[in-house]
Amino acid sequence: MAENINITENTDTLKKPNFIHSIISEELKQGKNNGRVHTRFPPEPNGYLHIGHAKSICLNFGIAEKFAGKCNLRFDDTNPTKEEVEYVESIMEDVRWLGFDWEDRLYYASDYFQKLHDFAIQLIKENKAYVDDQDAETISNQKGSPTRPGTESPFRNRSVEENLDLFRRMTNGEFEEGACVLRAKIDMTSPNMHMRDPIIYRIMKTPHHRTGDKWCVYPMYDFAHGQSDFWEGITHSICTLEFEVHRPLYDWFVDHLQETDYRPRQIEFARLNLTYTIMSKRKLLELVKDKHVNGWDDPRMPTISGLRRRGYTPESIRNFSDRIGVTKVDGVIDVSLLEFSVREHLNKTAQRVMGVLNPLKVIITNYPEDESEELDAINNPEDAAMGTRKVPFSRELYIEQDDFMENPPSKFFRLSPGKEVRLRYAYFITCTEVVKDENGNILHLLCTYDPATKGGNAPDGRKVKSTIHWVSAKHAVKSEVRLYDRLFKDENPDGHKDVDFKEFLNPDSLKVLTECYVEPFVKSAKPLDHFQFERLGYFNLDYDSTPEKPVFNLTVQLRDSWTKEQNKG
Ligand code: ATP
Ligand code: MG
Repeated sequence: MAENINITENTDTLKKPNFIHSIISEELKQGKNNGRVHTRFPPEPNGYLHIGHAKSICLNFGIAEKFAGKCNLRFDDTNPTKEEVEYVESIMEDVRWLGFDWEDRLYYASDYFQKLHDFAIQLIKENKAYVDDQDAETISNQKGSPTRPGTESPFRNRSVEENLDLFRRMTNGEFEEGACVLRAKIDMTSPNMHMRDPIIYRIMKTPHHRTGDKWCVYPMYDFAHGQSDFWEGITHSICTLEFEVHRPLYDWFVDHLQETDYRPRQIEFARLNLTYTIMSKRKLLELVKDKHVNGWDDPRMPTISGLRRRGYTPESIRNFSDRIGVTKVDGVIDVSLLEFSVREHLNKTAQRVMGVLNPLKVIITNYPEDESEELDAINNPEDAAMGTRKVPFSRELYIEQDDFMENPPSKFFRLSPGKEVRLRYAYFITCTEVVKDENGNILHLLCTYDPATKGGNAPDGRKVKSTIHWVSAKHAVKSEVRLYDRLFKDENPDGHKDVDFKEFLNPDSLKVLTECYVEPFVKSAKPLDHFQFERLGYFNLDYDSTPEKPVFNLTVQLRDSWTKEQNKG
C-alpha cells in the first residue's frame, strides 16, 4: 500500500528540512570541509530522466541552495554501449527546466578516463589490482554468498610485471571483450560481497559518445564514482539506498588512491517509488522501443519530458518532491499526490477558458441570426491580477452532451426539456425542443434565452440550480483533445513475480477526441501553455498543434475522480 501523506498542507510552508540537512548542519557547526557544501547530480546518460531523478535533482540542488553551496551536473558515462548524446541533451534540458543551474560545473566521468587509468596502473604497481582471465560467470560463481566466503581467482597472485603488461595489452585492444578484466585485490572473505575483489576495468569495443574509439577499456562505476567526486571537491555524495553496501568500497578506493585528508561523504536515501508507475530507465526504454508509448516524452510517461509535455510545471514537481520528503526507508508514494501537486499549482496559475469536449449544438431561437456580442469572463478567480477577457456569444452554441438529458432523473439539474440553466458568464436559457434525425439521434436543441439575465443573474431574483459551460459555434476553435488515463492498470506493475510489467498496460490510457471546440482566446496560445477548461480539468497545448488545429493534452482532471471510481469497484 502507498504511504499516507497529508495533502492538505499549504505549499508556502514547504521546504521541509530532512535528515541530510541535519547531517550537513551539524558538520557545518563543527567546521568540516571549511564550511564548504558541494553536491552533484550524477545521471548515467542511458535514457531520459524520470520523476525519481527529479527527487534526486531537487535534493542535490536544493542542498546547494539551502547551504549556499554548489551542485555539479556530472554524466556518469562509463558504459558506451548504452549511452547516447540524445540522452545527454535531454538530461540537461530537464534539469534546467526544473529550475536548476549547474553554472560552469558540467562534468563527465569520461573527462577522468586518463586519470582513472593512471590510478589503475598505480593499484597494479602497489599489488592491489590484478588481471583476471576468467569469464564473468566463473568470477561470479567464485563470489560466494553473504554467509560463505568467496574463492580466490587462480590469477590473483600474478606478478606486478605480468599484470602491468596484461593491462597494457588490454588497453591496446589486444584482447577480445570479456577475455579478461582488471580486479582490485581486496579480500575474498570480506563479509561485504562488494569488497571481494571487485572488477574495476573491463574491455568494451564500442565507440564512446565523447571519447570515440580512444579507449577500449572502461572503468566500472564503483571505481570511477568516488574518484570523480573527489576531484570535483564534492563534500556530500548523495545516492539511493542500494549503494549503502557499496560505501566501504567507495571509501576504500578513495583511501587508497587519494592523498589529502578531505573525503567526500556518501549518504544514502530511499528512492522514489510511485503507485501505477514504472521507474526504471531500462523498462521505460522497452516501452519506447516496442512502441507502447509514442516516445520518451509521451504525456503518459513518468519521464520529466513526458510530465512537461503533459502540462506539469517545474513548481509542481519541486513541491511534490518537497512534500514526499527524504528518508532512509523505502516506500511507495501514491501517484495521486503528484497529481494533487500539479492541480494545486495550476489552480493558482492557469488561465481559465471554456471548452466543449463532446459537443451538442444549441440554437437560441430568440437570438438574432447575424448578431454576436462579447461577454466578460474572469481569467482566474484565484488571481485577480490576471484580469478578465471577452467571450463571444451568438445564436448557435455548443454545450457538453453530458450537460443535457432528455429524460432526466429527479436529481439532474442541468439542461433538459422545459428546464432553465445558466450559461456561465452569459444568460439563462430554457430548452424548448429536442430536434432528432429519423433514427431518433439528437441533432441539436432549440432553446430560448432571457436577455434580462445578461452576465448570469436574473433581475427578478429567479434562481437556477446549475451553471454550464459553452462556446459560440462560429467563434470556437475546433481542436483535438487527448485524454490520458494511467499507463498501468495495476498499482504495482513491477511487483508481480511471474508476470511481465507490460501485461498491466492500460489499453485505455489514451483517448483522442477530434471534434472539440474551445473559445477563441486559445488562438494565441503557444505549446505548453496551461489552461483550465472550466468544469473539466487542466489542459495544455501540445507541440503537435498547428494554427489550423490546436491539440490539447489533459494534464489532470479538476478532482481526483480516478481514485473514487476505482474504489467503487
Ligand atoms: P534507473 O534505475 O531508473 O535506471 P539509475 O539509478 O540507474 O535509475 P542514474 O542515471 O544512475 O539512474 O541515476 C542518477 C541519480 O538519480 C542517482 O544518484 C540515483 O540514485 C538517482 N535516482 C535514480 N532513480 C531514483 C529514484 N527512483 N528516486 C530517487 N533518486 C533516484
Ligand atoms: Mg545507475
